[in-house]
Amino acid sequence: MARINENFQKLAAGYLFPEIGRRVSAYAEAHPDADIIRLGIGDVTLPLAPAVVAAMREAVDEMGTDKGFRGYGPENGYDFLVDAIREHDYRARGIELEASEIFVSDGSKQDSGNIQEIFGAGCTLSVTDPSYPVYVDTNVMAGRTGEVDDQGYYGGIRYLAATEENGFMPGPPDEALDLAYLCSPNNPTGAVATRENLEAWVAWAKDCDAVLLFDAAYDAFIQDPDLPRSIFEIEGARDCAIEMRSFSKRAGFTGVRCAYMVIPKNVSGTTESGERVSLNALWGRRHATKFNSVPYVIQRAAAATFSQEGQAQTREQVRHYMDNARLIREGLAAAGFTVFGGEHAPYIWMRTKDGQSSWDCFDDLLENAQVVGTPGSGFGPAGEGYFRISAFNSRENVEEAIRRITRT
Ligand SMILES: *Cc1c(COP(=O)(O)O)cnc(C)c1O
Repeated sequence: MARINENFQKLAAGYLFPEIGRRVSAYAEAHPDADIIRLGIGDVTLPLAPAVVAAMREAVDEMGTDKGFRGYGPENGYDFLVDAIREHDYRARGIELEASEIFVSDGSKQDSGNIQEIFGAGCTLSVTDPSYPVYVDTNVMAGRTGEVDDQGYYGGIRYLAATEENGFMPGPPDEALDLAYLCSPNNPTGAVATRENLEAWVAWAKDCDAVLLFDAAYDAFIQDPDLPRSIFEIEGARDCAIEMRSFSKRAGFTGVRCAYMVIPKNVSGTTESGERVSLNALWGRRHATKFNSVPYVIQRAAAATFSQEGQAQTREQVRHYMDNARLIREGLAAAGFTVFGGEHAPYIWMRTKDGQSSWDCFDDLLENAQVVGTPGSGFGPAGEGYFRISAFNSRENVEEAIRRITRT
């Protein structure tokens, strides 16, 4: 008899997006003529940049020749991509990384979900609440939590509420933990961490010997050059932090798949007897066992985002989404909503009116404006009473959505 991993049965009913899909389909079936505008799921809409497409084509042609054909790639990524990452994402901001500190992967969803595997079953952890659901769910699956309560909190996880008072960027907890998930710019709240906030986190991590798991999937959306784009801009972070970045949002790679994780050589965990073990070495072992590298064609495409044209073209894409974000912010504010985020992230976090629940707000907007957003409560209990609107769409759709919301 094959016993299942019963931790999976602790997962709160369904994933957020299937439930949204169900409600939208039901509405569309009842109203076949409705023109529904989707500002829900955080997926990009613009086509790939020409420089990226050209690099992919060229790589495909190479693969079709005797000389250019390649089989399995190096597990941690081709040098041409790793070096481009070191140069453009780090050296340009004063951070020196060794090539062996970078692990190229097929997505930050995987990385942020898989990283917990190298930590002990008894590790304690915090998440900011609300947060990207992967952090919590993968720890539930791994058995690091208890059951979920009727408010949506899993036993054993320390939830740090992101509130209007703390600018949706909670500081470290007042207790020692082993792991802390952070995400800036934040999905879903659209908030961005200041240097001071990250300094407090690094100081806390060093103090209690914790590891910070920093998700920077939206780094390219930061508009203010003084705001930190990497946790490694903070002194001391190289001893206690792991960083994840993705080409998904910055270059439209959600369907192409390329990301990377940075684990500095100095970051370590301990064995039961107190011996220190390099997390870089441990993850390297895991990566080499369970992953067989990102396709050559895709790594060429990712590297092309760092060429001069690639940078200009992807910057233009980010600008398009950020202009949408500004229009949404202004439009919703004019419609009487209190809005947050959207200044350094492609998400607007809006407070529902008159204490309406997140799901009631969802149904309301779907019924009355045929606009789909994401209920804040789907990202964690502290998201209740808020609603996420994504800026990933065409200008026309964004403008039409605002017109309709303003009318309701
Ligand atoms: C979109 C997103 C990712 C990126 O996922 P990929 O698997 O690289 O497409 C990671 N973290 C957060 C918070 C995200 O919103």
